[in-house]
Formats: sequence, C-alpha cells, structure tokens
Amino acid sequence: MTFADHPLQTPPRAPSPVHKFGTLAVHAGSPHDPVTGAVIEAISLSTTFAQTRVGQPVGEYEYSRSSNPNRDNFERAIAALEHARYALAFSSGSATTANILQSLAAGSHVVSVSDVYGGTHRYFTKVAKTHDVQVTFTPTMEIDIAELIRPETKLIWIESPSNPTLSLVDIRKVATIAHQHGILVVVDNTFLSPYIQNPLDHGADIVVHSVTKYINGHSDVVMGAAAFNSSEVYDKLSFLQNALGAVPSAFDCWLAHRGLKTLHLRAREASKNATEIAHALEASPHVIAVNYPGLASHKHHAVALKQHRDGMGGGMLSFRIRGGHEAAERFCQETKIFTLAESLGGVESLVEVPSAMTHGGIPREQREAAGVWDDLVRVSCGIEDAEDLTKDVLQALEKAVVVPKIKNGVAKGNGHVEA
Ligand SMILES: *Cc1c(COP(=O)(O)O)cnc(C)c1O
Repeated sequence: MTFADHPLQTPPRAPSPVHKFGTLAVHAGSPHDPVTGAVIEAISLSTTFAQTRVGQPVGEYEYSRSSNPNRDNFERAIAALEHARYALAFSSGSATTANILQSLAAGSHVVSVSDVYGGTHRYFTKVAKTHDVQVTFTPTMEIDIAELIRPETKLIWIESPSNPTLSLVDIRKVATIAHQHGILVVVDNTFLSPYIQNPLDHGADIVVHSVTKYINGHSDVVMGAAAFNSSEVYDKLSFLQNALGAVPSAFDCWLAHRGLKTLHLRAREASKNATEIAHALEASPHVIAVNYPGLASHKHHAVALKQHRDGMGGGMLSFRIRGGHEAAERFCQETKIFTLAESLGGVESLVEVPSAMTHGGIPREQREAAGVWDDLVRVSCGIEDAEDLTKDVLQALEKAVVVPKIKNGVAKGNGHVEA
C-alpha cells in the first residue's frame, strides 16, 4: 500500500515525510476512526466486505487476502519509516523472501552475501533451485560483485549487518555497480530496523524485514514486510502477495503496528545496551573477539558511521568465547536475565549459539568460512537496564570459562587462570 498517495492515509495531524521518525512511527497509517473517533484503529476481522452491486464494494475492500484495513495501515507505517512509496506485509520474513524470489523468471541468477539468515540460506539453496533460480554466495560482496554478475543476474541480496557475524556491506557501492547492469538490490534490514538504517536512502531497491524481530519487538507476532519505490516492483509483488496468499492476519497487523509505534525508543535503548555489553566483552580476558558494528574496532565501522543513524551499532552482537563450543553452551545456560532462545529484537534479551541453533543447517566448512565458529555466541540485547545486563554477561563468562578450568585443576594459586 502506498504511503503518500492514498485517499484515506491522512490521520488528523497528518504525518508526512517532513516529520521525524518518532512522529511517523506514532502517526503514520494511524487515522482516527471517522465514525466513532476511536484514536486506535479497530481490528477488522471480517474476511469479506459487502458490495452494493456486483463488482461494486461499499468501500475499498473486497476480501481480506487481497487487502485488509489493518494490513493497509501497517503497510503505510512501514512505507513511511523506510522512506518508501510502497510497502507490503507478509505472513513472515521468510514469506517475504519467498515472494521476492518467486518474482524472478526461471533461469535467473542471484548474488547473495554468504552469512545470510539461516532460513534465507535454506530457501536460496534448497527451494529457489526448484524454480531454476541459482544463487552464488560471496563473503566479500563489495570486492567481487562485478565479477560475479552474469547476463542472467537479476537480484543482489544483502544483509547488513549480517547474521550472526555482524559484517556490514556498503550498500551504495554495491548498488552503483548493480544498477549499471539493471540489477535490483535487496537489503534485509531486520537486524537494525528502519530506525537505525534506511537502505533505500543508500541506493537499495527493496528493503525487507522480518517484522517478527525489532518492528513488532515483543516476541509475539511472526510477520514480514518489504518496502520499495518502484511501481513495477509493487505490481509484481502485490500480485504475488495475493496469488500466493502468504498474508498476515488482521490481528497480527494490529499488534505489529502497535509495536512499531515504540520502535525508536526500543531501538535506541537496545543499541545503548549492546554498546555497553560490547565494551565489557572486549575488555574481558575470556573473550577472543567481539563483533559489534558500534565498536571502533569493528572491521566495517566506517560503513556504520556512513549508513547507520548516528553511527549506532544496533542491539545485536556476537562474540567468540574462550573454551570452545562447550563454553559457548555453558555461557548461554548461565545467564540469568538473557534467555537461551532463537530469535531477536524483542524487549527481552536473548542469547544463542548459532552453530548449533540458528545456523546448524549450514555445512561446517561454509559456516566457518563465514565466521560462524562453534564458540560463537549471538546476543540480542533487550531494553532492560544496561547495568543488570552487563553484570549478567560477566558472571556467566566467569561460570562458563573460569569455573570449568578450576574444576579441571588448571587454576593457579593466585586465582588467575590461563586463558
Ligand atoms: C528472522 C529473520 C528472517 C526470517 O523471518 P521470519 O519472520 O522468522 O520468517 C529473515 N532475515 C533475518 C535477518 C532474520 O533475523
């Protein structure tokens, strides 16, 4: 649904692209009910809408798979926050990816960053090929993109930051080359949310989200979204959205829209917490390396400064713990505030071991080539208090790394343990 040119898009204190993020988050796609004055939209559960004559619905709706008031409103809000003309909502982030890949003709070729979301990797390697769409992965997109482009290359897939190693891609650099060949650039912006990064402003053609994560933000909705400016892309993807039917429910749209209204507050807090934790991890003798784009030591920190709001690093980080896979698992069991669970972007903090959980399906050599070692721990920082979170991380590190060594009798008399 388009944000700008829709007749019903104007709520009483009309937000427009001149407004700042928080104002848009609260007001975009949130009209007062014209009949009751309700400030919060009703949940429109009706699957069908009355027609006065054949082919002439009372309003703009006919059937809820094709469009629904709550979905429309949510899509308007997403379009506003991603600086896009159009947005479409899907039943999951994965359905969003599937719809985009399905829009490619048989025989098409895609170039993707290597360490994509596990489910995206699965779709690219196991499902796309059944439609005769081939995907080439590269860990160094900016360097080799020109060489990887073939005559049949139609799409470039970027995750920045990538999952779970938090590598960044210079979107503008890749888009400039892609556009010389008429290739569309997709950026999965799930890890940062539209508050911290707007890929379309850096030359991307389509931005996608697992709304399940930061946008909904409360770990109680599975949903996805795509936003873009091209009416051609809109025609293709909205046709498929209806034809494939991978649409979110009215209730989920309503919930995700409620979550989105506080995205700026949550994203700021999560980013602040992640920064503090990243510094504590970096200073710890029990940690081999920290991947966090907000750290000056991050290999792509310059890209963060260029692409992210105020150079923020976001709420996600990962780190390699000393003591191998066992220590990584123990760490995740020893945290008291962080819950051991997959997923991310909720108000509550989570930890997981990608090699055994989210990325377990990727063959070891490929996984390790992308930096997903057995000792890697991924952390999703929630919006609890930074001091509590940092203390929790430090105590869990002690228990995961130091205590087992003492038990194994390698501790020295002074309590210091060789790392
Ligand atoms: C979770 C996730 C997805 C998939 O989204 P679902 O809503 O779980 O289908 C895609 N990309 C990234 C980066 C994710 O974190």
